[in-house]
Amino acid sequence: MALKNLWRLSLFRGALWIAVIWAVGGAVSGAQAAVRSVIVLVADGVGVAHTTVARWVSPSRSLPVDSMKVFLVRTYGAESLVTDSAPAATAFATGHKTSDKFVGVLPGPVTLPGIPPVPPERQQKPVATVLEGAKFLGKATGIVATSNVQHATPAAYSAHWPDRNQYNEIAEQQVYQDLDVVFGGGRKYLRPVSQGGARTDGEDLIQVLKDRGYTIVETREEMLRTQASKVWGLFAEDAMERDLDRAVFAPWEPSLAEMTAKAIEVLSRHPNGFFLFVEGSQVDWASHGNDPVGVVTELLAFHNAVQMALDYARGREDTAVLVFSDHGNGGMSLGNAMTDGTYSRMAYASVVAPLKKATLTAEGIAKQIGDNRTESRIREVLRRFWGLEDVTAEEVARIQGYQGPHLSNAIAPIMSVRSNIGWTTHGHTGEDIILYTYGLDMPMGTMENTDIAHACARAMGFRLEDVDAKLFRPAQEVAAHLGGRISIDKSDPENPVLVIQKEAGGAVRFPFSKDLMITDGKTSRLIGPTIYAPHTGTVYLTLEKEP
Ligand SMILES: [Zn+2]
Repeated sequence: MALKNLWRLSLFRGALWIAVIWAVGGAVSGAQAAVRSVIVLVADGVGVAHTTVARWVSPSRSLPVDSMKVFLVRTYGAESLVTDSAPAATAFATGHKTSDKFVGVLPGPVTLPGIPPVPPERQQKPVATVLEGAKFLGKATGIVATSNVQHATPAAYSAHWPDRNQYNEIAEQQVYQDLDVVFGGGRKYLRPVSQGGARTDGEDLIQVLKDRGYTIVETREEMLRTQASKVWGLFAEDAMERDLDRAVFAPWEPSLAEMTAKAIEVLSRHPNGFFLFVEGSQVDWASHGNDPVGVVTELLAFHNAVQMALDYARGREDTAVLVFSDHGNGGMSLGNAMTDGTYSRMAYASVVAPLKKATLTAEGIAKQIGDNRTESRIREVLRRFWGLEDVTAEEVARIQGYQGPHLSNAIAPIMSVRSNIGWTTHGHTGEDIILYTYGLDMPMGTMENTDIAHACARAMGFRLEDVDAKLFRPAQEVAAHLGGRISIDKSDPENPVLVIQKEAGGAVRFPFSKDLMITDGKTSRLIGPTIYAPHTGTVYLTLEKEP
């Protein structure tokens, strides 16, 4: 044996021993008893400065997370030091770093050092999420977001597809996931084009939800009133309104905190505990727009939701709460190039007061101005909703001359200048983010975003690899198990079906993206949907039935 191989063998043995010692040590030292329920709350696109500024602006000058344990988390993806939401969420939902725009699947080619490459035949393979693991254990599950619920972060917990923008595909998988509570926007991705929706496959997924016993709610009042144990809230065709702008533009919508409290109320009635994912989706969008009003108000609305989770978890011994972001955004800073060295200018009043006066986000201001970009209209709106009397002729001219798709981009700098907030980019940034925990037994330190997934799974008492092996078996392997051969029925090209033709006669059919198994015309429900991996053409499925 070559010296190199000997070294490899001893390294392998060493790793094995470390694993054994770790496992035994964990058992001996009495690792945390499994928690019943886990609540994960993610504020999308939040760096440290976002949180600092929000804390200053909050009425109590404190945030619910201030009393939680704190960790630092590395956010990079499989090929990039700056991540998109989709691979970031896949990392903390499944425990795997993945490629740009992928949700809930393994990466394509890996280019960053330190991340194990994936062999070609396994690239883009679906991988089990923490939510699916909880469901597998018989727990109730829920998703809450202020974007459309098919958006990257909620999608990474509940769907598997190498393109986050395929909302129709993601929506279908989510509907067939047997979730207990879903609150957010995105109604149009559940309805066929013929009914004014976005679905090109002709499927009416709202009818499917009704047939499956869901109560559909479309307003805050309907949501608060329902006593249903399976409830799907569709509050907007696409994204919900920003928190600060809701009263003006969409007063029927619930707040993120109200959705979170209701989701906990519904899920906590379940005897086996629950997993709930909550996203403050639009802090990210306000950061892309470099809008400090949007960032602060969306983030404070998120922290109101965190308070709901902590109110539930405190005083119980059985619920863990994790709060974190997926990546930084905007390079937001408290202090900007204009205030270099003049710290006396950075008084409380120079940062907080302008932000506190605002009653609409930059996006809301843009909507109020609309196409009527006269100087008097611009001045009137900025006076009424931002309390500004000192708008310059140059600022007015910049709004009037703006040609791009987001008028708010010409409006937001007016507030950034007055509140001494700096920005370096309209895109994401690659620094570490903060993880806050309650009720979770973890060693102190820094970690990878993938570690968050394993910590959640470990807390509930399962291993993601074990769930993965049960949920996503290659069709070839399942066909061998059933004694048959596979083909794909594309007679309806928008709704393909995996067919396993048994040698003993008869066929078993598995429609793509659904949790259905059809044998001799008899339909039974599986514990998760059948997933097609377009890159390799492999179909992955489970034979485990819904209990
Ligand atoms: Zn994001």
